[in-house]
Amino acid sequence: MKIAICIKQVPGTTAVEVDPVTGTLKRDGVESKLNPCDLYALETALRLKESCGASLTAVTMGPPQAQSILREAFMMGVDEALLVSDRKFAGADVLSTSYTLAQALECAGPFDLIICGRQTTDGDTAQVGPELAELLNIPHAANVTEIHSLDAGKLRATMLLPGSFMQISMKLPALISVDETIAEPRLPSYKLKLATADREIKVLSLKDFADTDENHYGQSGSPTRVIRVFPPEHNTRQERWEGSGKECALRLAAFLEEGKFLQDPR
Ligand SMILES: Cc1cc2nc3c(=O)[nH]c(=O)nc-3n(C[C@H](O)[C@H](O)[C@H](O)COP(=O)(O)OP(=O)(O)OC[C@H]3O[C@@H](n4cnc5c(N)ncnc54)[C@H](O)[C@@H]3O)c2cc1C
Repeated sequence: MKIAICIKQVPGTTAVEVDPVTGTLKRDGVESKLNPCDLYALETALRLKESCGASLTAVTMGPPQAQSILREAFMMGVDEALLVSDRKFAGADVLSTSYTLAQALECAGPFDLIICGRQTTDGDTAQVGPELAELLNIPHAANVTEIHSLDAGKLRATMLLPGSFMQISMKLPALISVDETIAEPRLPSYKLKLATADREIKVLSLKDFADTDENHYGQSGSPTRVIRVFPPEHNTRQERWEGSGKECALRLAAFLEEGKFLQDPR
């Protein structure tokens, strides 16, 4: 059983500037960390390793410094690490990120199960997992809260839906994105840090992929562009109304109707 865990390096602070020309984050010199949701993906995989003897590969697409989160994954107990890195991958939108990861996983696989976090704290779209599954043409379940079994080519799990839970059975290979309630992530181990200090991190770049057309990656392979990033505008205008409760209530209803917050207040 081979399991890949997709993890991403994200800024460790909210004080990150956006390049006004490209609309991408200026990551140089910014303190970074492992995306918090991905700790749950790692923990899920580690528990499967303990119960089924799976071999675990942590995968990240990012610049060379993203190696640090792969070292952290080693310290938690993963067996192998893969850095997907190439200047041609820079400026990728969600589709291009998912396509690059799909190419990398096909190149390094096959994997029986791919585990993603729910979402990241920077891009925040929660779309990479489902898009990756579509591109790999495998089934996908999001917001997985519990894994019941993983055997005989099948995964049985519970996923969280708005207001309810759903029990599912999926054929492997499959992809799941996990909810933070699935398990409490363990701390990195000092013992594993020493034991894995020299362990190789494999690097995959464009030349290793089946599709080496650079127009399919990075900014050139991205159909979407950020036009402008700005904080929400706050309206601080205030009005004070005098009158009886009924008068004020009617005035409030008219105000809400005028602002199209109400269809018909009466
Ligand atoms: C300033 C800014 C501008 C952006 N502009 C655009 C844009 O115009 N169009 C657009 O489509 N996107 C845009 N993005 C999103 C950006 O491309 C994403 O960072 C990237 O596609 C990954 O998506 P995500 O961070 O939303 O991941 P999510 O979908 O939220 O992540 C879900 C899970 O997928 C996995 N995952 C995600 N990224 C990686 C990775 N690199 N390596 C390994 N695993 C990963 C992790 O398991 C993660 O928990 C922008 C982001 C920023 C910060």
